[in-house]
Amino acid sequence: MAGKIIIISAPSGCGKSTIINAILDRGDVDMQFSVSATNRAPREGEIHGVNYFFLTDEEFRKAISDDAFVEYEEVYPGRFYGTLRSEVERICNSGHNVVLDIDVKGGVNVKGLYGDRAVSIFIMPPSVEELRRRLVSRATDAPDVIEQRVGKAGYEIGFAPRYDYRVINDELVAAVEETRRIIKNFIG
Ligand code: 5GP
Repeated sequence: MAGKIIIISAPSGCGKSTIINAILDRGDVDMQFSVSATNRAPREGEIHGVNYFFLTDEEFRKAISDDAFVEYEEVYPGRFYGTLRSEVERICNSGHNVVLDIDVKGGVNVKGLYGDRAVSIFIMPPSVEELRRRLVSRATDAPDVIEQRVGKAGYEIGFAPRYDYRVINDELVAAVEETRRIIKNFIG
């Protein structure tokens, strides 16, 4: 496998997907998004095979037993997410770098697996209060889900020191630029 691995993690609502998409859209960094599998339901506008491969519980269990995942985690109770070996191999074998948007445990595990072939970047919110405000204004989750995500943010931020780099997303344009610079330096 020729490509390198870029791992990006953040508490939900920190702008991680926006930052990844902004870098991908600009098109001057050679990296492709690895589409993960999940057993959660699609949100409004999400497309199978683009945002995620949306699997049933049974399909997800089968993928685990078929060893289809580089890693997988139960990120929320009963909600599983996994990095597909087929995605990482397809992208790396074609000579491109792969970007993974994965949770903190997955991020630390993948960094451990790939070592110097991987760079790990943690996107931080300016504060937990600001994070709650962003999730409310995004309005894609029910209030109880928002509280669940905010509650988890403190735990997730505890993993930040284990990442190679930390980027605070206070101002989006600056956070995109900093993340892009870290990735460009890493892939050379
Ligand atoms: P969401 O449901 O908001 O799309 O994602 C919830 C969390 O699952 C996010 O932190 C996201 O990074 C994480 N996630 C997405 N795909 C994967 C994956 O393949 N593996 C792991 N470990 N986490 C993932």
